[in-house]
Parts: sequence; structure tokens; C-alpha cells
Amino acid sequence: MSVPAAHLSSMKQSPPSAGKLWLVGAGPGDPDLLTLRAARLLATADIVVHDGLVGAGVLALIPPHVERISVAKQRSRHTMKQDVINALLVREALSGKQVVRLKGGDPFIFGRGGEELDAAREAGVACEVVPGITAAAGCAAQAGLPLTHRDDASAVSFVAGQCRDLSDQDWSGLAGHGRTLVIYMGLATASAIADKLIADGVSPDLPVAVIERGTTADARVMRSLLTDLGDLVAREKVKSPALIVVGKVAARADALDCLGAPGIAAKIRDFT
Ligand code: SAH
Repeated sequence: MSVPAAHLSSMKQSPPSAGKLWLVGAGPGDPDLLTLRAARLLATADIVVHDGLVGAGVLALIPPHVERISVAKQRSRHTMKQDVINALLVREALSGKQVVRLKGGDPFIFGRGGEELDAAREAGVACEVVPGITAAAGCAAQAGLPLTHRDDASAVSFVAGQCRDLSDQDWSGLAGHGRTLVIYMGLATASAIADKLIADGVSPDLPVAVIERGTTADARVMRSLLTDLGDLVAREKVKSPALIVVGKVAARADALDCLGAPGIAAKIRDFT
């Protein structure tokens, strides 16, 4: 029986390297919110490649002998392009290392973990994903803001506020009665987001919460109404990372009421 040529050539290849890539969620900031698996991998990795969202407390858990590379990205400035990061991860794993790619929150929620997994698969690198607590879950927990509630919301959506062609994105039906909309990366476009939702028919009086640096000791939680969202972000000089929650549940947040326009606090109270 003849052996197909493709099979022969794969038999000639060198055995798979023992290197491996782990796409690890670091959670939203507080090191106590790491999974046990993530903590174990940080202790046993050869190299940790992390982004800028990973909290200092989490980075402090990486033993000093473990090589560490930051590929921090900012909205306006990409220090390392995604394909360069992908190539770095693949190269290190192919050289036989245990590579931990540490990402804020969960690797598969606005984390480009899918692209890194694709790159690993294409290169034949073994890759495993370790989920993390995404910012929405961590921030909501800290703010005492249930993302779903039997009385208020039976659906929750996560959207990226800083996405290509915001105005072309169809968000209709994602916010409004019985729904919670969580916006990641929405600070720079907060005003445009509020306008877009209101134009789609969402009530301008729907409560919103803005949570800055959620799960950390210096977190700030602010509440207002959708109509005030852009002003609130400007007035309070909200800084990244911050999350915006739109929906009736936002009125339940344990938060400062903000508070520019008169009557907002009373209107929020009407929802609670
Ligand atoms: N993969 C991450 C999200 C990356 S996108 C996750 O699952 O959480 C980056 C955005 O996440 C930030 O712009 C911000 O909107 C949100 N974010 C991340 N950490 C946060 C935090 N500690 N507090 C508030 N928002 C946070």
C-alpha cells in the first residue's frame, strides 16, 4: 500500500515543540480576581507578554526570574501592532517556551484573543485559553449593579464604543426596556453614543452608570441619565479605563449621583 505524499512529508517534520501559548485573562484589576489557573501559570511561565490594562497588583505576582514584555496599547498610539504581537507569541512558543499572554479582563471580550488564537493555530502552536473576569462583571459587582434583574433586565449586551464607523453600527434594540447595554472603550465617544441611542428611540431619561478603574481601590462610580452621559464624562474628567452601563439597572448602582443638571438625582431615584 502506498503512503500518500502529504503523509510522508508530515512524518519527516520535526516533533512538535514542547512550547505552548496560554491566552490568560487577568481580570479587571484586583489581583484577588485572578483565577487560580491564571495565578499558577504566572508562577510557572517562561515569559509573560502583557498589555497595559493588566493591574500592577497582578504583575507583582510574576516571579522576578520570568521574562516580561509589555505590549501596552493606547487608543491613539499602538506601541506594538497586533501582527507583531502575534509573531512574537508564535516565535517564543516555537522556541520551546511556556508563553503566557496576559490580557486585561477576559481574552475573548474585546481582547483580540481570537486573533492570537488564530495565529497560534496557523503556526501549529499549542494554545489554551484561560478565561478571566471581564470588566463588565467586575465593575458591576463592585458597584452593586446587577447586570440582569428579574424586575429590570432580562438581556445584557456588550458593545465596543470605540469601533470603526460608530454611526454605521446597528445597536437598535440593544438598549431600552428590559435590557442592559454595557459599553467598553466608550469614553471618547460618550456623547455620540448617547445621541445614537436616543436617535434609535431609547429614552433620554434612562439611567446610566459610569465606572472608572473598577475593582481597584480608587474606583469611582457615577450615575446619571442618558441625556447627560457626554457631559458627565467631561464634567467629571473620567479617565480610561471606564465602563458605561445604560439601562434601568444602572439606577441600582451604589454611586455618586452626578449631578450637573438639576433634577437628575430625583429622576434617577424614580427608577429605584
Ligand atoms: N478584555 C477586557 C476588555 C478590553 S477593552 C475585558 O474583558 O474586560 C478595554 C476596555 O475595557 C476599557 O476601555 C474599559 O472600557 C474596559 N475596562 C477594562 N478594565 C476596566 C476597569 N478596571 N474599569 C472599568 N473599565 C474597564
